[in-house]
Amino acid sequence: MDDATRNELKAWLEFYQELGIEGFYRRKPAAVATLSSLEAAHPVQAAAARPAQPAAVAHPPKQASPPAPTRVAAIPAAPKPVALPAPTPAVIRPPSPSFNLFEAAPAPRSGPETLEQIRQDLGDCRRCKLAPTRKTIVFGDGNPHAELVFIGEGPGADEDEQGLPFVGRAGKLLNRMMQTVGLKREDVYICNIVKCRPPENRTPEKDEVDACSPFLYRQIEAIKPRLICCLGAPAVRTVLGIKEGITKIRGQFYDFGSCKALPTVHPAYVLRNPREEKILREDFEKIRDFLKGA
Ligand code: URA
Repeated sequence: MDDATRNELKAWLEFYQELGIEGFYRRKPAAVATLSSLEAAHPVQAAAARPAQPAAVAHPPKQASPPAPTRVAAIPAAPKPVALPAPTPAVIRPPSPSFNLFEAAPAPRSGPETLEQIRQDLGDCRRCKLAPTRKTIVFGDGNPHAELVFIGEGPGADEDEQGLPFVGRAGKLLNRMMQTVGLKREDVYICNIVKCRPPENRTPEKDEVDACSPFLYRQIEAIKPRLICCLGAPAVRTVLGIKEGITKIRGQFYDFGSCKALPTVHPAYVLRNPREEKILREDFEKIRDFLKGA
C-alpha cells in the first residue's frame, strides 16, 4: 500500500473513531454488488467499500440511540489526511437499499410494546427497597392477548420462590374461582402491583408502588384487555385511585382507559374469611357475564 493510501485510510479510521465507531470488518463481495448509487454520490467511500479495499462498514457506537426509523446519516465528506477537519454536518437521507453504514443497527420499534420488551426493560430491577430481599422478580404470567387481567397485591413466599404470580394458597383459590365460571388460567393474564415480595408479606408501600406500577401500566397497555379485575384494596387504590373500603365498591364496573375494571376481594381475604367466598363467586360471575357479552 502506498503512503498516500495509507495516510488516507489512517485519516478515515481516526475520523470514525472520533465518531465513536470502532469495529470495522471486510464486507463480503456479494454484499457490495450494487454500489452504483453510492458511487455516484460518494466515489471515495464507494471505492473503500469495494471488496478489494478495506470496507467502510462499521458498527454503531455502543451507547448510541438507534437511528430514526426511516432515516440514516449519509457519509460525510472525507477528511484531509493530515490535519483532521471537523466533519461537515451530516445530511439526513432515506436509507439506501444498496449501502447502509449502520448495518448492525437494531430494528426501530414500531407499534405498541411487547411484554418481552417491558420485561427486558425491567431487567434485574433495583428501583425500590424490595429488591434486596426478594428472590425472584414476579413479572406476570398468562396470555399476552388476554381479555381479562387479574391484578393482585404482590408476590408471597411461593411466588417469590417460583417467579410466578398466584401459585400459593390464594392462587389455588383464584384458579378454583376461575374454573367455577368456566375461565381457564391460560386464557387470562395475572400480575401484581409490585413485582417483588414485600418482607413478611406486608402491604407494598407507596414508594414501592410508585416505582413498580409504571411497568404494570405498560403491561396493560401491551395486553389491551377488555377487563381488569383488581384483587383487594391495594390493587384498587393503585389502579383506580379509590380509597373506599373494598366491600363497599366491589362488584361494580369502573372505566379504566379504554377498558373496564372490576374490584373484588382478594382471595387471601376469603381464605381468612371462608364465609365470604360467595361474594368472590358473585363477582366472578359478573366477570363471566361481561366477557360473554360481545
Ligand atoms: N397474593 C398476591 O396478591 N399476589 C400473588 O401473586 C400471590 C398472592
